[in-house]
Amino acid sequence: MGAQLDSVHRSIINAAARMGLDPVFVERMTDAKERIRLRFSPKLSDGMAHNIIGYIVLHSMTLGPAKGGIRMAGDVNEDQIAALATEMTLKTSLIGVPFGGGKSGIAMNPHLLQKDDKEAVIREFTRAACRHIGPEIYIPAPDMGTSEIEMGHIKDCISHGDGFATTRGCYVTGKPVVLGGIPGRREATGYGVMLVIRAAAEPIGLNLGKSRMVIQGFGNVGSVVAQCALEQGVTITAISDASGAAWNPDGLDIPALSRHAKQAGTVAGFEGGKPIDPDSIYGIECDIFVPAATGGVINSGRAAVVKAKIVAEAANGPTLSDADDLFQARGIVVLPDILCNAGGVFVSYLEYTQETQRGQWTLDEVNHRLETRMTAKFGEVMRHSVNQGLPLRAAAVEMALAHLYEGYVSRGLLA
Ligand code: GLU
Repeated sequence: MGAQLDSVHRSIINAAARMGLDPVFVERMTDAKERIRLRFSPKLSDGMAHNIIGYIVLHSMTLGPAKGGIRMAGDVNEDQIAALATEMTLKTSLIGVPFGGGKSGIAMNPHLLQKDDKEAVIREFTRAACRHIGPEIYIPAPDMGTSEIEMGHIKDCISHGDGFATTRGCYVTGKPVVLGGIPGRREATGYGVMLVIRAAAEPIGLNLGKSRMVIQGFGNVGSVVAQCALEQGVTITAISDASGAAWNPDGLDIPALSRHAKQAGTVAGFEGGKPIDPDSIYGIECDIFVPAATGGVINSGRAAVVKAKIVAEAANGPTLSDADDLFQARGIVVLPDILCNAGGVFVSYLEYTQETQRGQWTLDEVNHRLETRMTAKFGEVMRHSVNQGLPLRAAAVEMALAHLYEGYVSRGLLA
């Protein structure tokens, strides 16, 4: 079993044991409802058809249709997608939207593809997967390696396949606003991360205006966290991505770094900071460390060198179980992914309701709902953690499981 799947299972099993939950329920939570493997063969610009493997994991559909993004990366595998689908079940339950958890993945590094080839891959994946996608089954969204561009292609592929101008209901979220997407969805995950950091700073006694942040990953999530943190007066001293890292103890010029990254496709080579090895990012002294890249990156060796007060999990599953234990032992507060990065799926839910009701939301309305929900959920998780004497992750998992358990019982699926 992959380390990320093992870590999420461990936190479910431990929480369920503390709560004394029915073993049949625990088995359901640690074994996805459906795992689908697809082989599809798009014809690419080299004139050849290429065999590509994709996965869809529908982990739980008890609280509603499975919800979760489409990941496109070279290291995608079935257990990784199962781990991410399991986390989505916990995340949707915790944040309180009527969705289950799912995830899909395409085992292909998108950076190795021409722009038109990426579109061909997504369209072929959609054709292969479309019987598993729908407003009552599984609703994809962007994840690592995919963006609103691909969501637009999915909507086009499904609606045209049906011979209609639009889809009958919401088949995909995170679409371009012009195609029925919702304002603020693209920024929602990163903005939500900053809202949770802000809510956590007060009880921890951290003055954001005097704090330093280090961010691992400068994609859609990391770059928005940087922007929002800057607006809160945080000094961002280092940012890394897969190809490099920039460090400036006086604070990086984020707008200049963003311009550089847009042009160069990486933070490497940015002149406003000292180039450092991306692996050394973990040991840089700061107040808030934000893993915003991919899962399974923080093992116990890396956790041992982190010198932060808060670890804010903007990525899904960045911290392995042993590392999590070590953070706890070292008194480092971990803001768990299922809470910290739930802003994305929360705004996906707003998009789903907007499309279902054929309404129109403004950016202010979206951000207000997001701020209210993220702040309130942090407060609830914090209270549960204090009352039960648990770290925030354990408290968040318990709350998510309790809500799911109630769903299973209400459907008559458990005694
Ligand atoms: N991929 C995002 C996540 O992991 C968003 C999922 C969604 O909006 O459905 O939370």
